[in-house]
Amino acid sequence: MSKVVPYHTDSLEYPPSHRNVYHDRDNCPAGKTIKQAHRKPGDAGRPRCKDCKNLD
Ligand SMILES: [Zn+2]
Repeated sequence: MSKVVPYHTDSLEYPPSHRNVYHDRDNCPAGKTIKQAHRKPGDAGRPRCKDCKNLD
């Protein structure tokens, strides 16, 4: 339940709603589906994930 370093994914394995945003919560439902191997650090200039916002 904590804030983590922003991460995102470029993997086409995920729907755009998960891919076109960045996440910064370790308990984000969308972020949790992103496998560790597919995670990249940083926000990539993307908007913040709505689910992560809701967890604030
Ligand atoms: Zn998220």
